[in-house]
Amino acid sequence: MPELPDVEGFKRVLSKNVLYKTIARVVVSDARILGKLSARTFASRLQNAKLVAARRHGKHLMANIDHGGWLTLHFGMTGALKFVQSCDDEPPFTRVRLDFASDGCLAYTNKRMIGRVGLVEDAADFIAAEKLGPDALDRRFDFDAFKTAVLGIRRDVKSVLMDQQILAGIGNIFSDEILFQARINPAERIDNLAPSELKRLFLEMREVLKTAIVRGAGSEQLVERMPKGSFLPERKKGGHCPRCRSLLKVFKVGGRTAYCCPQCQGC
Ligand SMILES: [Zn+2]
Repeated sequence: MPELPDVEGFKRVLSKNVLYKTIARVVVSDARILGKLSARTFASRLQNAKLVAARRHGKHLMANIDHGGWLTLHFGMTGALKFVQSCDDEPPFTRVRLDFASDGCLAYTNKRMIGRVGLVEDAADFIAAEKLGPDALDRRFDFDAFKTAVLGIRRDVKSVLMDQQILAGIGNIFSDEILFQARINPAERIDNLAPSELKRLFLEMREVLKTAIVRGAGSEQLVERMPKGSFLPERKKGGHCPRCRSLLKVFKVGGRTAYCCPQCQGC
């Protein structure tokens, strides 16, 4: 499930391979991913245009179109962005493909079709319309801003981390990794955390997200690439704590499945 680090990986795929290249052809294999936007309108806006900048906010990726407006990509549960040198090597479940005049193709894949590809006029307006909170790794989103963002909230800490309107980018998987590294019970109410715990939560949030980016999030082998002591590889049925080897507890928090070490996190 693509979260902030994965989408940052997709942003790098886009930035590295396709900026300032002319889009020669737009192939929409499944128009349902465009929602109400017609495939014809979508294609006509991108045909012969260039993507000139990439921007990520939370789990959303946006690319500025030289003719005006932005291409928006959301990856839902199973989405990804891949660049292939030859369009004959189109990856499975490609829903939208941009073929470049010089070389290569950018493929938006999405097996389960949860997600969206779209066009908007303005990136900032789009972020506001989606009601997204600050990006979890935004430099301006420091500890004071984090404290302010969660002030007065009386919900379990896992749901708060995952609430895109409070802060954008974290989902079910990375919230578990962050809470494990911070040694906090996912079901603990955020307003019950000691100031030192809240600080640790913030610092681990940044550390976990940055580490995942450096280790190549967005690729299918991320789990194998995470450093020793990471929670992700054990986050499965029958998994054990990487620190104390206790059997992990699995339970629902705010309707989502949480994995947690009963010894280290007191859950
Ligand atoms: Zn443990």
